[in-house]
Amino acid sequence: MGVHFGGVTLLNKVLFGPAGYPSDARGSVKRVFQILVDSGMTALEYAAVHGLRTSKAKAIMIGNLARESGVSMSLHAAYYISLASRTQRIRETSRERLRKALRFAPLMNVKRVVFHPGYLGGLTKEEAHIVIRDALRSVWETTDDIEGKAFLAPETAGKLSAYGSIDQIIRLCQDVEGCIPTIDWAHIYARCQGDFGEKHNYLKVLTRFENELGELFLKNMHFHVSGITFTEKGEAAHRPLGEEWGPDILPLLEVVRECGYNPTFISESTNPLQGALYAKYLHEELEKGST
Ligand SMILES: [Zn+2]
Repeated sequence: MGVHFGGVTLLNKVLFGPAGYPSDARGSVKRVFQILVDSGMTALEYAAVHGLRTSKAKAIMIGNLARESGVSMSLHAAYYISLASRTQRIRETSRERLRKALRFAPLMNVKRVVFHPGYLGGLTKEEAHIVIRDALRSVWETTDDIEGKAFLAPETAGKLSAYGSIDQIIRLCQDVEGCIPTIDWAHIYARCQGDFGEKHNYLKVLTRFENELGELFLKNMHFHVSGITFTEKGEAAHRPLGEEWGPDILPLLEVVRECGYNPTFISESTNPLQGALYAKYLHEELEKGST
């Protein structure tokens, strides 16, 4: 029941999991996967958000545990990646961080490397696009010798000053081989100043991605979900899911069901595992309601 695409096999079903290790695992990798399996989780986004510091041996161990547990892996690369930085050295270390993530990904059974392209660095949007596009092309080409290479998965940004509008992410994925989008719904909500979260909003965005990217998008749908607070500059802080903070994700799960989409939901809420369980619960309730 898997589909073969871009060198990786992905299952045709909706997956759920947390961003980062569940805190109850207290850093034990074995316990991480035990907790995920026990709570019915099917995905994990490994958090290398402060840099990828794991050893090769540990990476292989994580990959084996993920495979045995049936947990689909993604990896969130460093927050401080800034491909269009004013400083050349930061641009180069940012490219190197992505190369390293791509080299480690197959060891960890990771299918996609999620990252934020960075800020505009004083450039116009068009200039930033060219710098970021060329940086990603170079990263992709210089890692050609890797077997089972993961996708590069730039994420929709929450801050208005960051590169990562829906249009920009779509364009990057069209212009760079090996790029697929990561849609962070909380970020989109923050960029829209909270004017987002109804079924027609979700449908409009998903239809755009589908029309512009086709199969590449449909076979690799990857969502971040969370509650969020925002200011006029965009994202402020992540908050729990299913409480007073938007966006409401029930309409999103309804759209996913009705359109037959098979995304992976990664919860980035303040308690990521709890958020993932909440998303999965909504999904299961909708399934029950339809039978
Ligand atoms: Zn995110």
